Amino acid sequence: MLRSWDKHVSKKYTSRIAESSATDDGICIARDCWGVLLNMLSIILLGSPGSGRSTLGRILSRRWDIPLICTGDLLRSAAEKIGPVAKAIRHTIDGGNLVSDEIVNHLLASELGRPDCADGFVLDGFPRTAAQAQFLSDVLPRIGASDPMVLQLNVSPEIAVERIQSRVQCVGCGRAYNSKLWPSGHPGYCDDDGMPLVKRTDDVERSIATSLRRYAETAASVIAHYRNANYHVLDAGSAPGTLLETVEGVVAQQQAFRFALA
Ligand SMILES: [Zn+2]
Repeated sequence: MLRSWDKHVSKKYTSRIAESSATDDGICIARDCWGVLLNMLSIILLGSPGSGRSTLGRILSRRWDIPLICTGDLLRSAAEKIGPVAKAIRHTIDGGNLVSDEIVNHLLASELGRPDCADGFVLDGFPRTAAQAQFLSDVLPRIGASDPMVLQLNVSPEIAVERIQSRVQCVGCGRAYNSKLWPSGHPGYCDDDGMPLVKRTDDVERSIATSLRRYAETAASVIAHYRNANYHVLDAGSAPGTLLETVEGVVAQQQAFRFALA
């Protein structure tokens, strides 16, 4: 039995999963028992706009060397393509509306089928609705991630608004900074690749209230979906380093539990 998130061991099985055939929804399924044996570190980040999801997502992604899948980035990238789906996404976003569960689920499923997700992943911005949460619960067991860690970032509306107002993003790698809370070391430019930092167009003042209201409309049903899951509430007002320590503590605890069971 594989124990913990042992990269060395689990990498041996990655190619096995990658060789498996894909289903209609793009999910790559291991046809034998390896998917069940793999202990993936799959993390779902929940939290309102301004809760620091993407910042924590990047930190967790680097800490455990697993991909960060951000729904916002997926939609922006899909909208730049050619075709009816891209056109529908552009039309929806330009109209200030939420893209349908069907499209978002499809994009997410394609990402989860990537071979580099075999050891785990961090989801930022998914699920946003109860229907998306159910879709994810149906899909995860098929890729060996039946017990994802769900982290709920709780933040006050005042802090969320302040963070959104001072948020900037690198035009190159997409890394998010906050000019007040966690600024770049080189004002106006990204620490990672030196590219300029810009305010995201959907961060304009008038959209902040709408974003927070929309999140509140669906958050309760998503949280209810994970009530009996591996669910943890974090104080998103804490510094990113403190949050990482908290998550590391939870992971270590669960690793110890799995060792004990194995
Ligand atoms: Zn960058």
